[in-house]
Amino acid sequence: MTDTQTFSADVYAQRLHAAQKAAADKGIDLLLIGTGPDFAYLTGSWVSSHERLTVLVVPQQGNAWIVAPNTDITDIKAAPVDELDVELRGWNDGENPYEFALRGAGDGLGKVALGQSLTADHVLRFQALLPHASYELATYALAELFTRKDEAEIAELRKAGHAIDAVHAQVPQLLQAGRTEAEVAHELEKLILQEHSVIDFVIVGSGPNGANPHHSFSDRVLAEGEPVVVDIGGTLPSGYHSDCTRTYVVGGDISKAPQDFQDAYAVLADAQAAARAAAHPGSTAADIDAITRQAISAAGWGDYFVHRTGHGIGLSTHEEPFIMEGNDLALEEGMAFSIEPGIYLEGKWGMRLEDIVVLTNDGYESLNQAPRDVR
Ligand code: ZN
Ligand code: ZN
Repeated sequence: MTDTQTFSADVYAQRLHAAQKAAADKGIDLLLIGTGPDFAYLTGSWVSSHERLTVLVVPQQGNAWIVAPNTDITDIKAAPVDELDVELRGWNDGENPYEFALRGAGDGLGKVALGQSLTADHVLRFQALLPHASYELATYALAELFTRKDEAEIAELRKAGHAIDAVHAQVPQLLQAGRTEAEVAHELEKLILQEHSVIDFVIVGSGPNGANPHHSFSDRVLAEGEPVVVDIGGTLPSGYHSDCTRTYVVGGDISKAPQDFQDAYAVLADAQAAARAAAHPGSTAADIDAITRQAISAAGWGDYFVHRTGHGIGLSTHEEPFIMEGNDLALEEGMAFSIEPGIYLEGKWGMRLEDIVVLTNDGYESLNQAPRDVR
């Protein structure tokens, strides 16, 4: 990523310290974090060395270090890493970066936590050097750190919410009969780029295409009165993401949409509102999912709600906490996640309503304010 913005170095120093402490509390001897969102969260750097190993190593005590190809060291050395007490260890092709990475990590490492972006080629080589260690995902060991956003992160997510709301404000005038989904999508891409530095995704699902939650867009021509699912997201220069879905009707008059769509949308909007109302510290991720699912099932649409209720969001678009059955994670202040139930009637239409919420000490703040009525 180019032209990225970071927080000041002391933010990353604190996070590294907190990661070290969280790992130690869980009996983890070593953290190995590959490049990507977790690496950026802890160091401010979005460096990518592709198949060559770049890894942040956090031992149980003392300063962390970064092992990276010498060709990438200059990029990494930029702010804020240059102000952190983090040693940079460069390696050249032909050298063994895995030995470099483990040098000084201590003997008899028992428990190693791996960042989820480390690929199998790297993991297998670390395992070969540490055959007696046990391995787990750093995502879980550091869950509290990654999922609870601080004020600066919430401010960025709030900005992202405003940015995507501003794009949704333009959607009704773009959805005109006779246009294709692709034409609308290309207009949306331009608008997303006015508000963000990167386009993450654009979904324009009209009529039956709306029934496929993973549809992107096609050359299908829009017709008056047709429901259209518009799910869009982008990345701010800080790396924080937006993600918001609204369902529209071409022409803006819901009374022209099929009657079953109108009935189902009222159910969906109520279910989503009920889940937002229950979004406060003390609820679990599974509780929020159960609320949307029960409301939609009670109205007879349960078989048509085919995905989890939501996902966490931050430096990645999809991360913990996943709002789904079986996730008994207790929600806490500072957690940011989507609430996005949907109903999908194959061959006819789809609908989804998605807001990003962040939990306050006694409730939630919706980071999206775009109108929730079908327009
Ligand atoms: Zn979305
Ligand atoms: Zn989402």
